[in-house]
Amino acid sequence: MTARQPRLTLNDGHTAPQLGFGVWQIDDNVATEAVASAIKAGYRSVDTAAIYGNEKGTGEGLRRGGVPREEIFLTTKLWNADQGFDSTLRAFDKSLKLLGTDYVDMYLIHWPMPAKGTYVDTFRAMIRLRDEGRIRSVGVSNFNPAHVDHLIAETGVAPVVNQIELHPDFQQNDVVKHNRAKNVVTESWSPLGQGGDLLKNPTLSQIAGAHGKSVAQVILRWHLQTGHMVIPKSQTPARIEENFDVFDFLLSTADMQKIAGLDAGHRIGPNPDSLN
Ligand code: NAD
Repeated sequence: MTARQPRLTLNDGHTAPQLGFGVWQIDDNVATEAVASAIKAGYRSVDTAAIYGNEKGTGEGLRRGGVPREEIFLTTKLWNADQGFDSTLRAFDKSLKLLGTDYVDMYLIHWPMPAKGTYVDTFRAMIRLRDEGRIRSVGVSNFNPAHVDHLIAETGVAPVVNQIELHPDFQQNDVVKHNRAKNVVTESWSPLGQGGDLLKNPTLSQIAGAHGKSVAQVILRWHLQTGHMVIPKSQTPARIEENFDVFDFLLSTADMQKIAGLDAGHRIGPNPDSLN
């Protein structure tokens, strides 16, 4: 099963599974079971963050999953309050300790916090940790094109990934286009629109019916065929499996066009420019 899952090559030469498992809003004690189920279902990439408060449970779940550490792509994120050079080094140590591992595959700046003016120093600390071998790849989250450009201009390093809110009714084509131009992979957060009305959308339901798949599976397939990394979350074992069972069908060009037409600028989370 895992042999079939696609991987993307990042701009630093590392590769990462295109489909991963997100653990936001999963309690620390529940995360262990959820992550272990995900590994058993075939996922080899897990996305957590310091602010989720479940790095300990996530790390335990990875060990319980019984797959060698080197086969896992583990991402965590630096929280906003810890931005700055020295505070990033300290926050990273804490995350690593909670996760119970000696490196992470990818470390992301969670939000740019542009008014604070510290994301460049934060990224410099992450580059140092990368050079020390404790982070394989350095990336960002919720960065608008201007933030990405400023980071590259100041450090000469392009983040491997920009993880942004992205679902069929919020496609962020301007940010995606800019990421592509800078060789930054777009990673979709809340890819299922947090399980809200999007899952009842008639266009998606029609496409799902035609393929004998669920709406969630069609949405995940759309992310994959668009070229995004994608990290759906669930704590229900049947849905964890369902969300990984997306490698045995293909959306047609017409399906893809219909889904492209669903973009409605429907942002669920904060605007990165104004979150400070
Ligand atoms: P999501 O879009 O993955 O939706 C998850 C919800 O959808 C579940 O709680 C459940 O209610 C429902 N669901 C899941 N699978 C389903 C299925 N097969 N059928 C029906 N309903 C289903 O939302 P999310 O958790 O917000 O986003 C995914 C991940 O993205 C997070 O866990 C986290 O790792 C990451 N994330 C990152 C940021 C960031 O700022 N970088 C912000 C939000 C989320």
